[in-house]
Amino acid sequence: MWICDTRLPDGSQADVQIETDRIQAIVPPTNRTGDRRGGALTPGLAEPHVHLDAALLGARAPNRSGTLREGIANWAMLRAGLTADDVNERASATLQQYRRHGVFRVRTHVDTGSAVAVDALLALRDVERTRGTELQVVAFPQEGILRAPQRRRAWEDAVAKGCDAVGAIPHFERTADEGHASVRLAFDLAERHGLPVDLHCDETDDPWSRNLEVACAEAIDRGWKGRVVAGHCTALHGMPGPYVAKVCELVAEAGVQVVVNPLDNTVLQGRWDTGPVRRGLAPVAALWTAGASVGIGHDSVVDPWYRLGTANLLDPAWLLVHVGHLTSEEQMGRVWRALWDDNHRAFGGAPVPRVGERGPWLWWADADPVEILRTRALPERVGA
Ligand SMILES: [Zn+2]
Repeated sequence: MWICDTRLPDGSQADVQIETDRIQAIVPPTNRTGDRRGGALTPGLAEPHVHLDAALLGARAPNRSGTLREGIANWAMLRAGLTADDVNERASATLQQYRRHGVFRVRTHVDTGSAVAVDALLALRDVERTRGTELQVVAFPQEGILRAPQRRRAWEDAVAKGCDAVGAIPHFERTADEGHASVRLAFDLAERHGLPVDLHCDETDDPWSRNLEVACAEAIDRGWKGRVVAGHCTALHGMPGPYVAKVCELVAEAGVQVVVNPLDNTVLQGRWDTGPVRRGLAPVAALWTAGASVGIGHDSVVDPWYRLGTANLLDPAWLLVHVGHLTSEEQMGRVWRALWDDNHRAFGGAPVPRVGERGPWLWWADADPVEILRTRALPERVGA
């Protein structure tokens, strides 16, 4: 298959030949008759943060208040009745929706309070490989590990069973000290198993929730650049400017990636604000300026916290452009780029179009990132 005069990620134009996901040739544009002409060619998209164990459950116990608190309560009730078949069917259906939107790498958090969900998602990981999706599973202790000591063993067991990364939820522990301790416990557990860390970090409006700096210090002291992800980090939206600047620099120095989840957090955060209402978003522009890596996650696909998810990463990207004030041409291009570049970091980096490199590869009929975001364009998988 020839894609002619198409834009490559480095901004150049080329004719590209792809067969069975592998790039066979890249040559300067010609007038040859190709299978596609124009547009842009990118790697497949990557999803850095979703909860597949809870996906598609939203209608089973509707969140009547629309709040984080009721979402957690509904999830606890639903979790008790999970079966392997149920988790498998919902997760498989969700991953199929992701593929339809060009997403072939997915990192899911699994609530380690359910051994059923852990086992089901670990088993699904192998099956999904045959369907074309690379699935990673993060051991996520939804209720904390010091607040709920009975959950600590389950969290450790899930990691021992073969999870791909170690999670934690430090802002949900009882005290600031225990939150910080839980971060260190997650790093210790990850170190014992040779795994990366992916925290739900400071997903709160409380500006005194300061676990991100602890995660950065641990990453620096252990030399774990590129091995740590901090998800959400919404507390940053309420902190004084000088502190935000310090933390953003620390994040960059530590090589920690911040993954923002604008769909959930714009509706779940700011609920106690009587005005002005904060937006529930880590300061993406400030993180970029500091040199930090930022990923964009979908977080929820029709789950107890947020029923409006679509498994289309262009939705959180579109919303991020608005609530993050990222509307310069350069910033909108960078948001789109995050989906097929920065979002791959947990998977070892994005494929780069060069001869011999394997995709999957996507073709976008319009090369303009603003048009892609505006229309939530559907990419086409090419040369599969
Ligand atoms: Zn999450």
